[in-house]
Amino acid sequence: MNVKLIGYTSNPEKLPAMAATLTHSKIKPENLNKLSEKEQSAVLEQVIKLRHTSVIEHASFTFAISDVSRSLTHQLVRHRIASFSQQSQRYVNLNEPNYVVPPSISKNKKTKKAYDDTMETIWNHYNTLLEMKIPAEDARYVLPNATQTNIMVTMNARSLLNFFELRCCLHAQWEIRMLANKMLREAKKVAPRIFQHAGPSCQTKRICLEKKKDCPLYPK
Ligand SMILES: Cc1cc2nc3c(=O)[nH]c(=O)nc-3n(C[C@H](O)[C@H](O)[C@H](O)COP(=O)(O)OP(=O)(O)OC[C@H]3O[C@@H](n4cnc5c(N)ncnc54)[C@H](O)[C@@H]3O)c2cc1C
Repeated sequence: MNVKLIGYTSNPEKLPAMAATLTHSKIKPENLNKLSEKEQSAVLEQVIKLRHTSVIEHASFTFAISDVSRSLTHQLVRHRIASFSQQSQRYVNLNEPNYVVPPSISKNKKTKKAYDDTMETIWNHYNTLLEMKIPAEDARYVLPNATQTNIMVTMNARSLLNFFELRCCLHAQWEIRMLANKMLREAKKVAPRIFQHAGPSCQTKRICLEKKKDCPLYPK
């Protein structure tokens, strides 16, 4: 899995700080860009603490994500407050077997072999259908959830906080959790004040949405 932050609002913390200050000030928004770093920090800390997070919607982040499974992207695109562009299985011919192997399968030689054999059989059938002049858009019906894919996603900071709360949680599946943690690391580099406390709800709110008392992170 590769995850790269390839674009973001040029000043992702200053704009939300200006927006927050505007709401409690007579100063016109165009004159708010003189906010010091200290003032920006203080106002951002306050809005995040109070969950007045509409102001952080002014900052957007775009991630390039490659070599993930279709299972993962199916979960990812359920996040509606986002924009997506994904490699098409209608227009891209996927004749080479490229697939994700879950760790629970790869750790055992026997299960790994059974899995690889299944993938080989599936791709043989896919290629046979293409040879029989079935269009790629129909031949793809035999491809598995494991099929590798590439996707770009843009989310604003508020939507990302929600995404991290749900998907950094140990209850989320390993692949999307890995993605969420990588995205969080990238986002923190450019907007450390917005994302400093981001993560699963047990970290952000000290509550477990899943009520999983056997989870090692279950809040004491
Ligand atoms: C551990 C886990 C297990 C899951 N299992 C399943 C499952 O078995 N089956 C399944 O179908 N899904 C499942 N999901 C997906 C889940 O139900 C959500 O669809 C997904 O996490 C997106 O979350 P979201 O709606 O908060 O995000 P977004 O769609 O980005 O929405 C963000 C927020 O905007 C608001 N919002 C967005 N759209 C609306 C709307 N139409 N009306 C009102 N408010 C809105 C809500 O406050 C929402 O939290 C699972 C998710 C997780 C994390």
